[in-house]
Amino acid sequence: MESREQTRAVAASVSAAGERLFRGGAYKPRTSPYSFQGLAENGLKILAEVRQDFGLKIVTEAIDVESLDLVERYSDVIQIGARNMQNFSLLRRAGRSQRPVLLKRGIAATLDELLMAAEYILSEGNYNVILCERGIRTFTDHTRNTLDLSVIPAAQRLSHLPIIVDPSHGTGRREKVIPLSRAAIAVGADGLMIEVHNQPEMALSDGNQSIEPPEFEQLMSEIRQIALVLGRSLTTSSARTL
Ligand code: PEP
Ligand code: MN
Repeated sequence: MESREQTRAVAASVSAAGERLFRGGAYKPRTSPYSFQGLAENGLKILAEVRQDFGLKIVTEAIDVESLDLVERYSDVIQIGARNMQNFSLLRRAGRSQRPVLLKRGIAATLDELLMAAEYILSEGNYNVILCERGIRTFTDHTRNTLDLSVIPAAQRLSHLPIIVDPSHGTGRREKVIPLSRAAIAVGADGLMIEVHNQPEMALSDGNQSIEPPEFEQLMSEIRQIALVLGRSLTTSSARTL
């Protein structure tokens, strides 16, 4: 999220397409300290407005214990990013929260390490943890990361926790987001996290991997049909019939 206008424009289109959870980053863990770092608490206030005005639940990232205090106050789900998957004090703090936690797989983490990171949250008494596959670092050069879809059935064999897929960070390339989203649902993922931007070429973060609202709408319709084949259904916001 970059501004109130941009955030609301995206929220309007994705909610119309049936999205239920709106993920916007107010605290951005960037590779470079000189890149846009997010709107911080002002961003959280914009997200709280979006929740109110569009009837969406809000997911947003906490990057440290201080930001977690604020994220907890303004949002519905706390995201812990790949870079913090083994930040054990942050995990323990999230484990003492009343909010569900979306835990992203570390950039080079094994499944076992991801599940143990989740245990840090569970062991403090917070049982509402959602795992997220977001790609791991390999030697390939055709993607930013390698999206490890085989981890979905592997995680489901070892854990009862829901697991979703982020093909945006998982590939880093816009043209791969839709095919891998279809595959993620086909392989049994419980949800998707997709980066959507109304003007990706102008985006302050991750424009190369953001799709535009019409593509998102098309994707929602495709995955609804894929889910049906598998005897599952897409839960969309109750206010809308799709
Ligand atoms: C994000 O979800 O915007 C993000 C920074 O992801 P990751 O932690 O997977 O890199
Ligand atoms: Mn991002």
